[in-house]
Amino acid sequence: MPRFIDRLPADDNTNGWSALLPMRQPRLSLQGDLAVDWVIVGAGYAGVAAARQLARRHPDSSIAVVEAGVVGENASGRNSGFAIDLPHTPGVSPEATELGRRAIRVGHFALDELDSLVQQHNIDCDWERRGRYHAAVTDEVANQALRTYAVNLDAWQEPYQWMDRKQLQDRLGTDYYSAAIYTPGTYLLNPAGLIRGLADSLPEQVKLYENSAVIEAELHGESPYICTDQGRICARKVILAVNAFSQSFGVYRECQVPILLFASLTPVLSDAQLAHLGSDATWGVTPAQSIPGSTLRLTRDKRLMIRQGFEYSPKLRTTDARRARAKAMNRELLLSRFPQLGDIGLEHFWMGWLAISRNHAPAFGQIAENTYAVSCCNGSGIVRHTAAGMLIADLALGYQNPLIDDFLSQGMASYIPPRPLRDIGARLSLMWEMWRGRTEQ
Ligand SMILES: Cc1cc2nc3c(=O)[nH]c(=O)nc-3n(C[C@H](O)[C@H](O)[C@H](O)COP(=O)(O)OP(=O)(O)OC[C@H]3O[C@@H](n4cnc5c(N)ncnc54)[C@H](O)[C@@H]3O)c2cc1C
Repeated sequence: MPRFIDRLPADDNTNGWSALLPMRQPRLSLQGDLAVDWVIVGAGYAGVAAARQLARRHPDSSIAVVEAGVVGENASGRNSGFAIDLPHTPGVSPEATELGRRAIRVGHFALDELDSLVQQHNIDCDWERRGRYHAAVTDEVANQALRTYAVNLDAWQEPYQWMDRKQLQDRLGTDYYSAAIYTPGTYLLNPAGLIRGLADSLPEQVKLYENSAVIEAELHGESPYICTDQGRICARKVILAVNAFSQSFGVYRECQVPILLFASLTPVLSDAQLAHLGSDATWGVTPAQSIPGSTLRLTRDKRLMIRQGFEYSPKLRTTDARRARAKAMNRELLLSRFPQLGDIGLEHFWMGWLAISRNHAPAFGQIAENTYAVSCCNGSGIVRHTAAGMLIADLALGYQNPLIDDFLSQGMASYIPPRPLRDIGARLSLMWEMWRGRTEQ
């Protein structure tokens, strides 16, 4: 039975990252009927990586990528722009250390791929290996979460530096944080620039269709197909790479929830304001507690970026009132870190959806005879979903890639009861996390 897709992405034209880039002409939308070897739904990091990997392995196959909106305007282009090399494992057991090592192998595989594509295609996205400060606001969280992280880093033999409040003040220009762990391997970037560049450099045999929302899909049986309002593609195989929107396709509904995040960029800071910041020319801070915490950056063009808010969003929609509250909170949290900058405004404010699982594991694999799906980025999809896209392509081709086992060593996204129980559970547990970590905002 075909499925009619009830919830489609809707671009609100607010993405701050793409506003900083030159205009880009989207590819033509799908028109008419086609038959191809592979159709991939979704042109985010996962879909684009899957398409490139299929083309690399089988240069003669025909591949179509169908994207509801414009490349760079959905989560892949709206995120905070941290391509993170290292995982977070909650425990310090030998098993956790080994899982971490396997996640690091997968991360390096994807980061090396991204780094070489950025160089090879001159992708203009401010791609820079700046590392990141993983920071705690309070002494209590520094002494728990950061100390645990340090034990893991020692076990993995990964380099890091412990930074105290004074050192952070010198480097970043704020005394807001109690401490941070600096690791050097993270790349900072403009995410809209990166995903545009990756999509625009896909090999010839990959045809990308933008502004082509899939509104009907048959993902089961021998002859899967997808339909947009003006076209239809029959394919030998389908890869679904729509992350938070998987539930609309009836896929991975039982193991992931959509989460809404908010982010802002200030105008370019003046020289006088920059003189009040620290010695690092650009930097990125991730929160030791990811749900209540804020992600911050000083971008290469000297704007501050903040990402805050973590909200259960089953309908993949929000209200103007909620956006206004989130925007005010973004601004307040920036001012509390940098009171010396005066009344900094926000030039851009936007939001985006991602998918998380209860156990932080991915949703990945074959879901029907000729259909594969990847979802549940758990908030770090630049690297993780680049890997997932490449690996789902290898899995679908039957290509023995040992990294598939490494990727799946984290397990599969675990069961979450259906609505309305899920609504109650997800809301309560996020409220609890927010309340518990309120001093880490
Ligand atoms: C504010 C914010 C900050 C974040 N910060 C970071 C960060 O710093 N680092 C990091 O690694 N990750 C971060 N993330 C998460 C990251 O953006 C995601 O993990 C990543 O985008 C997942 O990639 P994806 O390709 O799986 O999904 P997506 O980027 O969501 O791409 C899925 C695509 O599917 C398309 N689609 C959906 N439905 C249909 C349909 N019916 N027909 C056709 N196409 C459809 C969508 O339009 C979309 O383009 C952040 C996310 C947000 C929202």
